[in-house]
Amino acid sequence: MHENRTVRKNSLRIKYPDGLKFQCQYGCTKCCAIPGVVYVGAWEAPAMAEFFGMDLKAFIERHLRPHYGDVYEINMPDDKPCKFLTETGCAIYEVRPMQCSTFPFWPDHVRNARSWENLRGLCPGIGRGRLWPWSDVDQIVEAISFGPFL
Ligand code: SF4
Ligand code: SF4
Repeated sequence: MHENRTVRKNSLRIKYPDGLKFQCQYGCTKCCAIPGVVYVGAWEAPAMAEFFGMDLKAFIERHLRPHYGDVYEINMPDDKPCKFLTETGCAIYEVRPMQCSTFPFWPDHVRNARSWENLRGLCPGIGRGRLWPWSDVDQIVEAISFGPFL
């Protein structure tokens, strides 16, 4: 991983030198229920199509729309929760996009202490449960640092 001095010295690392505490809370679906864009990398679409037992082209036509470059969005109204959210959680959990599996460790969220603390209002898992060492957080941030997340 390349060195990022801005991140290495940010206020979040100073406040939490050992890492960040986060554990998704059983039964919670708050982050999926908020209307917004869910990005899907073109490289993620084949597994999703296979999950549905669909041909890739048919899956893309039915469930995705182009965003930019090799990034799609899940095709749903902008003012509605994610179309794959059910009463019991994510219907495509096993193949959910990286945007979902890396939450809350997105570049913007770990940029400084205020950004991370602000997430508490949205996500009850912030500051609770598992301690994620910075080495793990850095790996996740690196993985999600593409296209719309840069
Ligand atoms: S808001 Fe947080 S605790 Fe709730 S589902 Fe999302 S990640 Fe899990
Ligand atoms: S794909 Fe699944 S995890 Fe991602 S926002 Fe939709 S319901 Fe939530």
